[in-house]
Amino acid sequence: MKPRSDSLKWKIAVSYAALLVLVLAATSGIIVWRFGSIIYAQARARADATMNEVLAVANPAGAPLGLQDVAVNNSPLQVLLNSDNLAYWSSPETSIEIDTPSGYPMAKSANLGGARIPAAPVDASHPALVRNADVRGVPAIVEDRFVRVGGTTDAIVQVSQSLATVAHSIDEARKTVLLVLAAAIVAVILLSIALASQAINPINELSRAMREIGFERLDRRLSWPRGDEIGELAQSFDDLLARLEASFSRERQFISDASHELKTPLTSINANAQMLLRWAESDERVRRESLETIAHESAAVGEMVNGMLTLAKADRGDEIPKEPVSLIEEAREVVKYAAPRAREKGLELHFEQASESAIVLADPHLIRQMIGNLVDNAIKFTDAGEVDVRVGSRERTGWLEVSDTGPGIGERDMPRIFERFYRADRSRSRSVPGTGLGLAIVRSIARVHGGSVDVERAGGGGSLFRVTMPLLAMLVALLAFGSGGVARADDIPTTASPIVNVVLSSGTLTIRTWRDSVVRIVTEGSVSWNRFDPRATAPRVPSSIESWAISVPTARGTATLPAERFLLPSLPGAHDAVVAQGYGNTTLTIPAGSALVITRVVMGTLTVEGYRGALVAHVRRGAMNLLGVSGTVYAQVVTGRIVAVQSDFDRLRARTAIGGLFFEACSARQIDATAIRGTILYDDGTFDEGPAYFSTSDGDVAIGIAGGRATVSARSGTQSLALELGSGADIRRSGDGETIEFGGGGPFVTALARGTVAIYDGRLESHAQLLSRIALPRVLPSALLRVERLRPRPRARPAFRPRPR
Ligand code: ADP
Repeated sequence: MKPRSDSLKWKIAVSYAALLVLVLAATSGIIVWRFGSIIYAQARARADATMNEVLAVANPAGAPLGLQDVAVNNSPLQVLLNSDNLAYWSSPETSIEIDTPSGYPMAKSANLGGARIPAAPVDASHPALVRNADVRGVPAIVEDRFVRVGGTTDAIVQVSQSLATVAHSIDEARKTVLLVLAAAIVAVILLSIALASQAINPINELSRAMREIGFERLDRRLSWPRGDEIGELAQSFDDLLARLEASFSRERQFISDASHELKTPLTSINANAQMLLRWAESDERVRRESLETIAHESAAVGEMVNGMLTLAKADRGDEIPKEPVSLIEEAREVVKYAAPRAREKGLELHFEQASESAIVLADPHLIRQMIGNLVDNAIKFTDAGEVDVRVGSRERTGWLEVSDTGPGIGERDMPRIFERFYRADRSRSRSVPGTGLGLAIVRSIARVHGGSVDVERAGGGGSLFRVTMPLLAMLVALLAFGSGGVARADDIPTTASPIVNVVLSSGTLTIRTWRDSVVRIVTEGSVSWNRFDPRATAPRVPSSIESWAISVPTARGTATLPAERFLLPSLPGAHDAVVAQGYGNTTLTIPAGSALVITRVVMGTLTVEGYRGALVAHVRRGAMNLLGVSGTVYAQVVTGRIVAVQSDFDRLRARTAIGGLFFEACSARQIDATAIRGTILYDDGTFDEGPAYFSTSDGDVAIGIAGGRATVSARSGTQSLALELGSGADIRRSGDGETIEFGGGGPFVTALARGTVAIYDGRLESHAQLLSRIALPRVLPSALLRVERLRPRPRARPAFRPRPR
């Protein structure tokens, strides 16, 4: 490989070498400087010592014994100027000169020859000086001292200490250090390159080896012999390869199996089509048999493709929209639908619910398909006896068992029956229709929901399939707090503005308010509850809620509610919370000032009466009634209708996939109502501020204005607009619809429908013609009939008058 200037190796080597060179150079500099200052200090000390000896003579009281002629005959000045003494004090590097105060030389050591020590400005007021000067052309330290010799004569004593040796030593030291430094730098650079190579080369080798393994050689492994970090990297790469190889081979196998399985029915369809071409006209029997075969085989192909699509969907994992699903209710439904088939074969089909609830976070259609496949197989492969479906939960796991009294599964087949296209016991399987994908789908669905499936021999000789799945974590976490209770009729004291969260897996749930600071739960089934104080709720109070995308298959294609987010009003202050979950018909009475109610009914009817505040209400399958409710509301029923009577919404988001939205005598500041398949009726209502938006992609919209002002823009996909208006309404036609102004115009209201859009004044029942054009449920929701029994509504909107009829 070409060396690259920006490679990691060079970067490491250069920075490593630069750092070491810097450290070495700094260290050498410091050593040389320190060495110089030490020997300079020594020279200075020698000059000091000589000066002290000389001065001791000038002041004989302190003179050391043995110095020549000091004591007896001579004066201190004579001793000082004595040439022998000067010779004694001097040395090749030390010279001495004694001057008169005016700078005239009185004596000097012989080694000065004809030269002098340069004069210095010392006198009685500045008696001492140390300086650097050139003496005989050589740099030296010079000490000058002004003294009164023997107490009578003034003189200047000068001692010079040559620095020639010092300079030489420092020079030598510097040379040596530079030499060592140069050698060290070379060594350091070489070492840096070697070390960097040692660190990086294995990575280069590894990447070369990785490059050599292409898609065609997925079976190769690096099998790196080292146990260090690079070895670990190589091992991870090997593991990745192993997984890729397994996955590729699975895909290859799947494609080859799928083509093989599809080929047989397609060949048969083709052959029969050829027969039809040749014989259809002349031979009625051939015609019928060929058509029957084609119908049968194409159905088989369709089933197989569906299976593959489901597998692909289950394999997508995280992308699957999930919602709380009751395993018990889904299993109950499956059993209900399978019962006629079991009866036809003379089998007994039993359903047993082993615990109160088993709610998992899942895609309900996949869950139903999973249970359906197991029950279908059990019925398909069992000729006599019974099929038992049991479902329940244990600790944090939901489980489902399907057992039968059929032929069972051989030991040899057990490990393989969950593979795609695997069908045990070919001879038997040939006589029983199937694709070999059913159990693979079951396993994929269980896995994608964090669960598993296994099979064993049932007690009665047949087979027993068991699926386990983790229960919905939130509920598990909440229930694990203990301290709560299981209600039949419980009163739970709270503050005046608690947060209430109820999940009911099945049954009717009615929520009412009262003045007490108590949540009362009365149930015919079983509801367990917990109370949390504000410290526990504070971090959990949501600022928005999210709805998952939900798709519901219908006779006219899939109806999909897209994922969306709804902002909740902020809830200042401290709130405690009551969290309840269970099943069975239940009534909850909550404090009138409750801050937030979040409720979900998996299957059943939810009714909220007279509540004012923030409400989030989901119903999976069933119905929702909002009677005299006011505030900010998120209402969703996936399959089933929403009915709102005499409710005043600050902000309302209401939506259903299949079912209608029926509003009677309501008012709304902001409203966004969507029914995908179903009619929207906003009867006898008013609008404040706006905007209001009603839309259905497969149904009618009817809006009856009771008074007040509104600007309604109406558009129908089938150009079917019906207007019956009072005298106060103006109509403007535009290209793609109609705009009607009530009371001179006001809040903007948009009505969009594929079917008829009807705009009228007041109540629909007084517009007989319109009533016949709008697709309404044959039996109007019972809640609508109860309107009169609710509190009378003040009507203070006289601006628009309906035409007298
Ligand atoms: P299919 O039912 O379409 O053949 P599956 O994947 O559902 O495919 O099942 C694979 C095989 O496992 C079946 O062909 C059958 O041999 C065996 N099997 C599945 N369920 C049962 C059962 N309840 N009893 C006996 N054998 C079964």
